[in-house]
Amino acid sequence: MNSYAALGKGDEQLQERKDDRLEGRTTSAGSSTRLDGWQGKLKAEKSGRSNVKFRTNNSIQPGDGLNEMKARLQVMKFGGTSVGDAACIARTAQIIAKAAKESGCIAVVSAMSGVTNRLIEAAKKAQEGNTGEAATVVDVLRKQHEAALTTLIHHENERARIRRCLEEVLAEGRRLCEGTALLCELTPRTLDAISSLGERLSAPLVAAAVRELGLPSEAIEATELIVTDAFHGGAEPHMELTRAKSQARLRPLLEKRIAPVVTGFIGATAAGQLTTLGRGGSDYSATILGAAMDADEVIIWTDVDGVLTADPRLVAEARTIPVISYREAAELAYFGAKVLHPKTLNPVVQAAIPVWIRNSFAPERPGTKITPEGRSIGGGVKALTAIRDVTLISVGGPGIVGLPDVLGRTFSTTAEVRANVLLISQSSSQNDICFIVATVDAQRTVEALRKEFAQDLAHHKVEHITVDSNVAIVAVVGENMRGTPGIAGKTFNALGRENVNLIAIAQGSSECNISFVIEEQAVKTALITTHREFGLDASPS
Ligand code: ASP
Ligand code: MG
Repeated sequence: MNSYAALGKGDEQLQERKDDRLEGRTTSAGSSTRLDGWQGKLKAEKSGRSNVKFRTNNSIQPGDGLNEMKARLQVMKFGGTSVGDAACIARTAQIIAKAAKESGCIAVVSAMSGVTNRLIEAAKKAQEGNTGEAATVVDVLRKQHEAALTTLIHHENERARIRRCLEEVLAEGRRLCEGTALLCELTPRTLDAISSLGERLSAPLVAAAVRELGLPSEAIEATELIVTDAFHGGAEPHMELTRAKSQARLRPLLEKRIAPVVTGFIGATAAGQLTTLGRGGSDYSATILGAAMDADEVIIWTDVDGVLTADPRLVAEARTIPVISYREAAELAYFGAKVLHPKTLNPVVQAAIPVWIRNSFAPERPGTKITPEGRSIGGGVKALTAIRDVTLISVGGPGIVGLPDVLGRTFSTTAEVRANVLLISQSSSQNDICFIVATVDAQRTVEALRKEFAQDLAHHKVEHITVDSNVAIVAVVGENMRGTPGIAGKTFNALGRENVNLIAIAQGSSECNISFVIEEQAVKTALITTHREFGLDASPS
């Protein structure tokens, strides 16, 4: 799917959009004990360290005998492009070192850009029995990491130490590929083990680069911190166990003012089996750790300035949005704005931890802040987003009126073939149901529907199942659109003026998102005209 915030200079694409299971986060487990060590230490250190910022911790009552100060804690995630080569890693290390000097900082890193794709490719080659190609990939990765190591680390001893650590990971990769090739079988568990190697290579490099700046830092594998279920390729965290493990492992480091650099993307089952959180999952790792560690904020450092009002490749006036709500960010994430992994906000919602999206290539820019409430503006419209590479399927004909099971059977069928339905519309006359799926899912969906409704088609109860892949979805998103009359009117007026024909329309009763289906060629016009209509190019949102 191709959509606006897929602007990352080669940031790897999200490939899976799985349903969310909102995991409740426990707040019980003795918050005062949790703070003791960290606080006591800081209390002792406080007088000596004037550059450490302190803040009042609201969870502690005045007069309860504890020092009500707690150091700020930031969790910072750096995506593939932010650790893409030695120069990027050096920039990233600067950001971590600066934050770690000022307050507590836990870094979470992705693999160097392109690495995860390459590893998956190697795994697939190995599965075909092609060990040669898999070995070549491992060699390419060695060279890539070695080049960064040589540029970043100056002391030969330190370099040799890191090199040994990288070699161990690479050797493991080679063995995994050999095993796969031997069996010509790639289990989801092995694929996780192979695709996680990139993060296990980048974290030691980043930690070493931070140390190079004179700040203590240690690479940590998230298998020691994040406990997940056993759903390989898209594991879900168990927050209570994750909290216990992360606190136990990371607090002592923070107390010693050592900056942990954690592998993103990875977790492990309670039994210690490595899992991954799904493609693009390092964002999710960051918020999981943010919640588990009671962080004050999570910062997602990436290669764009933040969340934009529209795709700047299509709308030249698109701007960075300074503040948006969790809800709006989630709408945009689900609706194809690939700045964030769709599950990213789940772990932080309950604790209301703000999440920033900032540009590691331009750290002076403010970025976008995602908060529980966002910020209200004029018309309530915050951003536009478009999804292409989608297909409209419609099931209908007058014969379906009053057939009570058509809807049920249609969507049981889409579920059976695991087609993610992006938009649904049915008019009250019930003559027609139409819905949108990703084009990659369209063929198998239609085939399954034709099979399911074969009898009904033969008897003309269902008259057609039609497919149109020349379409796109455009969505108008904003939390404060709720209860604001005229937004649909303004949108559709503007589109009418530009002769953009609406094929289907959907708005949920949450009123945060009005989505409409138009011909693919009309996307640019639709975005530009709607963007202007709501003045998204002008006032700060
Ligand atoms: N390296 C993983 C991927 O490419 C995770 C991430 O970058 O967030 O999907
Ligand atoms: Mg990413």
